[in-house]
This record gives sequence, structure tokens and C-alpha cells, in this order.
Amino acid sequence: MNKKTLTAYAELLVKKGVNLQKGEMLVISAPVNSSDLVVEVVKAAYKAGARNVEVKWSDERITKLGLKYRSKKQLAIVPRWMVDQSEYYIENKVAYLVIISDDPEAFKSINPEKTAILRRATGKALKNFRDHTGSNKIRWSLAAYPNKKWAKKMFPDLSSDKAVKKLWEYVEKTVRLDREDPVAAWEEHQRNIERRVKILNGANIKYFRYKSKNGTDFTVGMPKGYLFAGGAEEGAWDKIPFTANMPTEEVFSCPDRNTAEGTLVSSMPLCRNGQIIRNFRITFSKGRIVGFDAEEGYENLKSIIETDEGSHYLGEIALVGYNSPIRALGTLFYETLFDENASCHFAIGDCYPTCVEGGADMSEDELLEKGLNTSLEHVDFMVGTEDLSITAVKENGEEMPVFVNGDWAF
Ligand code: ZN
Ligand code: ZN
Repeated sequence: MNKKTLTAYAELLVKKGVNLQKGEMLVISAPVNSSDLVVEVVKAAYKAGARNVEVKWSDERITKLGLKYRSKKQLAIVPRWMVDQSEYYIENKVAYLVIISDDPEAFKSINPEKTAILRRATGKALKNFRDHTGSNKIRWSLAAYPNKKWAKKMFPDLSSDKAVKKLWEYVEKTVRLDREDPVAAWEEHQRNIERRVKILNGANIKYFRYKSKNGTDFTVGMPKGYLFAGGAEEGAWDKIPFTANMPTEEVFSCPDRNTAEGTLVSSMPLCRNGQIIRNFRITFSKGRIVGFDAEEGYENLKSIIETDEGSHYLGEIALVGYNSPIRALGTLFYETLFDENASCHFAIGDCYPTCVEGGADMSEDELLEKGLNTSLEHVDFMVGTEDLSITAVKENGEEMPVFVNGDWAF
């Protein structure tokens, strides 16, 4: 990628992503192959007045070797210093940028049980930090960096170099780096999302009804005081806006965990833990998952659902028009950050506490009481189809079309 684009991308992540303020500390979690971008981000951060920038490097090849050679018992041990480090980050109110650059099938040959053990152990140990990003107390942002294996997975017919070039083009389009002023383009985009958020938040919705030809037949209720969000989020401590995902097209909230009824059928493959889950359906009763199947990746799906009690319930409801710019590219990205923004989706597991009034300061028990789910897991899965209809039924019984033929009704 040329330097000019990398510089613009870095600036976008610092200004629109975490929205770094003068005197703040920035922590970047990034894979080693993205170092060209990371160097530009560090530069942009210092230019924006960062007092310190710290990078936490990772390498999927090394993670894989650990998964292969370490025993299940060893994988469950998280070093104390990692927990201390995350506590230090919380105390210092850092801004947190995560750059992902995964090989969608990096861990294909690894026993899903082992990846699950590592995931659960890390999730548990770093739970406090996760709670701080999840409730927007720490401003955070997630963005992607193309690599050869990922690009070849998306464009198998192209040479590695051409595939990477094409993936970069796609990333540029979806994060609006192809616009003359990407920061201004984001501001306009976010205003549009906020308009829909306002309508949904003012509608007093009791529950949503989903129907699609593919077999989705489903209802789910909303908790009292629900809040939809999308576009820009707001730091819970400092009220400073930031963009948690780049790209983002979704308008999302948390459903009442005890109300899901019926069946959701996947409309896109789900790539998780370096493995793919394809053509699956999940059935709910009183909010809890009571059945599921998958044509491919059943064990992986099972390990996600069986993480803990909360991973048997839904923690996110998200609306994305079928004609979103990401869907319009007509390619599966094998990367949830992009694929979730191509389609209406739900997430199994943890909720975003900010999606209910006063939620950021509620304890886990208070959230549960409100009907909001908690879990170590949070996995988005896509259900949006060309013919999906979503109807909102209001507290007063009035019906409001939200999606007609796969796209927004307003
Ligand atoms: Zn989402
Ligand atoms: Zn999600």
C-alpha cells in the first residue's frame, strides 16, 4: 500500500476511530505484519499530542504454535503481568486501538476445544478491561489490515499480490478512504445512522418480528429503556465521541435476553477462531438456545454456545440494510468486522451495557435484572436476506415496518 494512503488511514483511526485527545496514552494491539500502518498510527498519535504510545504485538503463527504444542491445562494459564498491564491501562484511561489482520483459516488444523480454552481463560482474566471497553469507559476502535492469506481466501482466482491490492481497494471503499476528505465523509455517514437511531429510540418498541424465506421465523423483545446506537459512540467518562468499528454501518442495541422465540437461519458463513461455520440455524425458547445445527463447523459453533450460561442467550440486535456498501461489493470478507456490516445480525453472548438507560454504571446483576445478557463470549452472526422483513410492535400494539424486502423502511 502506498504511503499516502497509509498516512490517511492512520490519521482516520486516530481522529475518527479512538479520537485521541492531547495528553492521552494510546495503546495499539496489532499483528506484526501490520507494522507499516502501526508506525504511521504512532506518528499520527504523537502529532495529535499523545503523551505515550504503546504497542502490543502479536503473530498468528506464534499463537498457532502455542495452541498446537501447549497442553489444555497450560493454555488455561494467563500470566499475572497481562492482568496487571490491563489494570494499568484502565487506571491511565488509555485510548485503545485494535488492528486485525487474520488468516481466516489460521487455526483450521487446531482442535476447537483448545482455542476455546485459550479464549475463555484470556476472556476471564481480562474481563475488567473488556467491561471498560464494552461500556465505553475506554474509547476504543477496531480496524483491519489486509494480508495475503486473507486476500487469497476472498479472491482465490487472483495472484497473491493482485488479491491484496484488491482487498486494499475494498477496505479503502468501506472506510471511506477513497473520499477526498475521509474524516468529513465519516461525519456525514454518522449523521445518517443517527437519524435512524433517533426514530427507533423514540418508538417505544415492545418486540420485533423477523421473517424470511430462508426459514427465519423469530420474535424478540426489547428491555424497558432500551437505547439503539450506531455511527459514533460516546465515551462514558469523558463524553468524547469515537468510532468503535471501522467500517460500521449498523444500528444496534441489546434485546431482552429472556424473550427470543423461534428460529434464526444464518445468511452468511461465520468466520470465528480461524475456522468457518456455514449454513447454520439456531432455535430459541424463552430467550435460551434450545437447538442448533450447522452444515460445516458444528463443533466450533457448539464451543461458542457452550462457553458459559450467557452464551446461550442473545446480547446484541443489529440492523443493516441489504444494500449496504459492504454488501454491494458482493464478496464475503471472512472477517466479522466487515461481514457484520453487510447484514442484519444478532450476537450470542455479552451485551453492550450502554444500550440501556444508565447501563454503563450497572452491575452484572442489575443488568441481568433489566434483561441484559452477560457472557465471556460475543459472536455476531448474520441473518439479513434479500427478502427479510422486520416489524416492530410498539408498547401500544401499533405495528411499524422497520425492514421491507431486506432494507430499511425509513
Ligand atoms: Zn454488531
Ligand atoms: Zn457484535
